[in-house]
Amino acid sequence: MTAVPEQDQPRPEIERLDCLGLTSAEAVDSALALRNVARNTALDSFRRIFREGVRASGPWRAGAPDVVATYRENSPEGEVVKFICRVAGDDGRAWETESVLIPMIGASGRSTYTLCLSSQIGCAMGCTFCETAQMGLIRSLSASEIVGQWWNAAHVIGIRPKNIVFMGMGEPMDNFDAVMQAVAVLKDHNGPSVPPSQITISTVGRVDGIRRMKEKLDTPGWHRLGLALSLNAPNDADRSAIMPVNRKWNLADLQRELIDWPRYGGNKLCIEYVLIPGVNDTREHAAQIGEFMRPLVLPVRTGATGDPEKDTRKRAVLNLIPYNPRRNSPWPAPAEEDVSRFFGWLIEERVFVKRRRTKGRQLMGACGQLGNEHVRGRKLVQVIVPGGES
Ligand code: SF4
Repeated sequence: MTAVPEQDQPRPEIERLDCLGLTSAEAVDSALALRNVARNTALDSFRRIFREGVRASGPWRAGAPDVVATYRENSPEGEVVKFICRVAGDDGRAWETESVLIPMIGASGRSTYTLCLSSQIGCAMGCTFCETAQMGLIRSLSASEIVGQWWNAAHVIGIRPKNIVFMGMGEPMDNFDAVMQAVAVLKDHNGPSVPPSQITISTVGRVDGIRRMKEKLDTPGWHRLGLALSLNAPNDADRSAIMPVNRKWNLADLQRELIDWPRYGGNKLCIEYVLIPGVNDTREHAAQIGEFMRPLVLPVRTGATGDPEKDTRKRAVLNLIPYNPRRNSPWPAPAEEDVSRFFGWLIEERVFVKRRRTKGRQLMGACGQLGNEHVRGRKLVQVIVPGGES
């Protein structure tokens, strides 16, 4: 019979606290305020929760929301796994978050996973091509509920992701403080220990959030956190038609903000472009993307070889993503040859572009598709963009 570690013995006098939303330093500080809990016990217990996946240890418990459904679909690079967690709404009713584990085969041939996290239940941003937008915003998630998705991936699903992207349900900049607290926990060496360079925050284009993130990047330990902008249309008329946020912050505002994105070695700036047939897929759109991107592709001298051509690296990359039709979508997915032709136009425009393969389309876990139909059916919320039109 295996002995139960001392810190896991029942301690009836202490109510266990959820530690998923706390860094180890914050957790230890708060443990010192609890009677009968030594610093080392608190830290060991914290590590066990994150590293071994125990649900309770010492003063802590893992307050991860329950996984209530898991869907799997094969892709050429491995199995895509979408999992649904149950969380309570502000009104006490049950809601669901969705997270997706996306397989990738790297240059070395090794298979890794990227975890796509949700930051809100639903979303207020109203992008017309997006499944989640159909729900409206139910509420923002806490740092613990965000980190809980990582904990569930690692310890319930059994896949420890290498990369994390905040590209699931919700606009992360709408929930900035909780998202940054979640990143602080995710990168904690006593916790998940995911390097900031492996974490990317996406935004629909909230310039105020991008500014706050720039300030964050100037803090030691945060320099290499990545940013992804969902561009999706390269002129204001088309972008405002599919992304209401553009009426508040237009492309010139965005470009200005991104031109002086902090330059730290290895930090990422990605521009995401969902290619939608008949909406944003003409030769002219490709030329306009070139215009938007050109100032963002300022060469940064590294001085590594002494050769000015080799000693430059491109700062921003465009990820070209074939549209995944949402339910009742007015637009189809683009044909393969149309994606290839658009890709070729971007190369002609000297855009640094990568093609993203669609994974998880059947289980509605691909980009812009998160948002569960029966969840939407229960509550529809008016779509509001801060300072913009509904
Ligand atoms: S694309 Fe992103 S920001 Fe836009 S509605 Fe969907 S979840 Fe919200």
